[in-house]
Amino acid sequence: MDAFVMLVISIAEVKIMTYDCIIIGAGTMGMSAGYQLAKKGQNVLMLDSYHPPHVHGSHHGETRIIRYAYGEGEAYVPFALRAKKLWRDLEQELGQDILVETGVLNSGPYSSPFIQNVLKSGSKYALGVEELSADQVNKRWAGLTLPDDFIGAFEKEAGYLLTDSILNGYKKLAGSYGAKFAGGQRVQKVQIKQGNVHVKTQEKMYEAKKLIITAGAWGSELLAQLGLQLPITVIRKTFAWLDADVIFQESMFPCFSFDTDIGTYYGFPDINGAGLKIGRHDTGAPIHPDHKREPFQNDDAEELQHFLSRYMGKGSFRLREGKTCMYSMTPDEDFIVDHHPDYPEVMFALGFSGHGFKFASAVGETLSEMVLEKELTVDMTPFRLSRF
Ligand SMILES: Cc1cc2nc3c(=O)[nH]c(=O)nc-3n(C[C@H](O)[C@H](O)[C@H](O)COP(=O)(O)OP(=O)(O)OC[C@H]3O[C@@H](n4cnc5c(N)ncnc54)[C@H](O)[C@@H]3O)c2cc1C
Repeated sequence: MDAFVMLVISIAEVKIMTYDCIIIGAGTMGMSAGYQLAKKGQNVLMLDSYHPPHVHGSHHGETRIIRYAYGEGEAYVPFALRAKKLWRDLEQELGQDILVETGVLNSGPYSSPFIQNVLKSGSKYALGVEELSADQVNKRWAGLTLPDDFIGAFEKEAGYLLTDSILNGYKKLAGSYGAKFAGGQRVQKVQIKQGNVHVKTQEKMYEAKKLIITAGAWGSELLAQLGLQLPITVIRKTFAWLDADVIFQESMFPCFSFDTDIGTYYGFPDINGAGLKIGRHDTGAPIHPDHKREPFQNDDAEELQHFLSRYMGKGSFRLREGKTCMYSMTPDEDFIVDHHPDYPEVMFALGFSGHGFKFASAVGETLSEMVLEKELTVDMTPFRLSRF
């Protein structure tokens, strides 16, 4: 190879690629933001350590519950309803189903703050939430064994989202609008120089006018490089699929979210023979996202079995497969969507505390509006960093 050719190659290697916006973390939130920005004509680069959808972060497991009468607080309802509209738009654009309305049964003691929030937000926003006694619930869904002091709050239009179809769909559409996706490129260094964003992976340097950090469980580490400490703790979570009786099939059984004295549990009916899927929402051991997670163990299975024997006592179940995942928890379990206080060109959406997926379509829209400095469709005041 002559000297001239080598010089051309080495110049090409050090050439810094420039974009309107770089997104670090093209998982749930980043892929949605990339789609929104590319659709609005921005020159976007989406970087990810892996090739989403993948099993290393917080989005794997095929399905996520979507509900609108929100036990975590009324402030979420407009956000959830906007997300629903955008999921339906995405379905149209992709020409495939991504949101299935099985209904969601929220249950717990009448006095539970979660149940009270479901009822209050259901009635304030006319979401058609049906209040049922324990007896009515146990009769309607054979297999359930709610105690007398529990009630059911059934939201008929709620259901589940198909996560892999969504991430693949966003990736395809974002690409069709000109976004560049670079998988297998973990960002090592982020710097702001003279108002420009510089991002370094092992192989390349990139530059942009704006930066979005949607790196999930790794997000705080990246923001720490820019001098910002976020109150986020990453925890290990488990979930499992079980062989179950026919009464738990999707045509007969809803998704569910139970607030009980032995923990908060959620689950999905048996969808196309995949088995009843169930997980515990509260508790979990702190971990580092780069460390190998303890695989699903007997203790995890016993915890689920304890819930099943108490609240689904008429069913017979056999563990098919258990998996682990990560939640990024904030102290109040509410999200953080904001600008970096010192660098307005840097935006982030993190700390989704195990309930963020359903909002991803609206989070992407919000981030795109922040980048374009437009008025936000959904008020983000409850999710600002300054609340801590
Ligand atoms: C078991 C389980 C069940 C859940 N159930 C529900 C539910 O029913 N309903 C609901 O609404 N939500 C649910 N959630 C929560 C929801 O899935 C998460 O809130 C959401 O997926 C978080 O999205 P994210 O974009 O922050 O993270 P991710 O989807 O994990 O994306 C982060 C991405 O950043 C990339 N990344 C990280 N660091 C770097 C770097 N340095 N360089 C490049 N890329 C990087 C990662 O590879 C990853 O792809 C659940 C979560 C779990 C774990």
